[in-house]
Amino acid sequence: MTKTILVTGGTGYIGSWVVKELLEKGYRVRVPVRSFNRKDKYLHLQNLPNSTNLLELFEADLLIHGAFDKAAEGADAIIHMASPFTLRFKDPQRDLVDPAVKGTRNVLGAASKSSTVKRVVLTSSVAAVHGDNIDMVEQRLSEFTEENYNTTSSLKHQPYSFSKVQAEREAWRINAEQSKWELVVINPALVLGPSLAGNSNSESLQIMKDLISGKYRFGAPDLYFGFVDVRDVAKAHVLALENPSVSGRFIIAERVANFMELVAIINNKFPGQFKLPKMVAPKWLLYFVSPLFGLSPRFVARNVGYRIAFNTSRSRHELGLGYTPFEHTVVDMVNQFKKN
Ligand code: NAP
Repeated sequence: MTKTILVTGGTGYIGSWVVKELLEKGYRVRVPVRSFNRKDKYLHLQNLPNSTNLLELFEADLLIHGAFDKAAEGADAIIHMASPFTLRFKDPQRDLVDPAVKGTRNVLGAASKSSTVKRVVLTSSVAAVHGDNIDMVEQRLSEFTEENYNTTSSLKHQPYSFSKVQAEREAWRINAEQSKWELVVINPALVLGPSLAGNSNSESLQIMKDLISGKYRFGAPDLYFGFVDVRDVAKAHVLALENPSVSGRFIIAERVANFMELVAIINNKFPGQFKLPKMVAPKWLLYFVSPLFGLSPRFVARNVGYRIAFNTSRSRHELGLGYTPFEHTVVDMVNQFKKN
């Protein structure tokens, strides 16, 4: 029998790839949109193969209590991905933490009320595994694993990361109170790669736009990130959905690299085409200029210059995820920006 999957955040950057993969595999897919009036947010989904028969859109907002109950009834599983991923916010509680935490309560509450949902896959982040890059040194770790939780973020410092760890902890708490559905959590690193989404606010797209449009041309911060291809993140969600034996959290990252390594890949493939940074900006200088980029001196102190590492063996061996080389991810994404 055809299975039905409710995908919150299915209109977004990562979610659109999840919806595409599910439709291609023949699943029925239910996707909430905040308003049918915003066609720019969902038209790309209606153009995907199989969407005419298998895609169902409905109106729902994360903050409206009970908004997902009807869509959860009859669904076999839920992928709960909707949550803001932005550094451009005014009020961290209202704009980040409330949609993340209350949204998780709302959607997982719908799973508990439904008589059909057996599995929930939650999109968390490595931001729920650690807060600042210095955490690895302070916690005397040689790498971050699924056992680690972010304990250093707050509403005032790294509020996006705070929203992700609060939401994930809430999900595990709700899961422990019931036995109808199992929870699997996906913790992706920074996601890059081409976008299908019509109009996403994802910071992933903004970071690449800023880089190739010359925002860092006078020097890039020596900042390390885990990176992963958006198509691999979508696959990880579907694997978590389909394999009943997997459980727990999965860190998803192809590799760790800093800005200049990312720049080297772009320079190599697209020589002279963008105003890319030519050198690493000295840390002392960043204390002065970082506020212009929306970064606090505390962020600079605790992140710039600290290399991190992730153990991704669970994703490779238990989930069975194969990773796209980072070079391909970057080239595909830049090519898409060039085309558009
Ligand atoms: P995105 O394109 O901005 O997607 C966010 C999705 O959440 C969109 O579908 C958005 O709907 C929806 N959403 C946000 N607030 C909502 C609300 N109040 N009510 C209903 N829907 C709401 O960002 P993304 O990069 O794909 O991120 C998706 C998820 O992955 C997030 O949970 C994020 O924390 C997580 N994540 C992302 C990365 C990354 O590097 N991109 C890494 C790790 C984890 P609209 O279409 O209406 O805006």
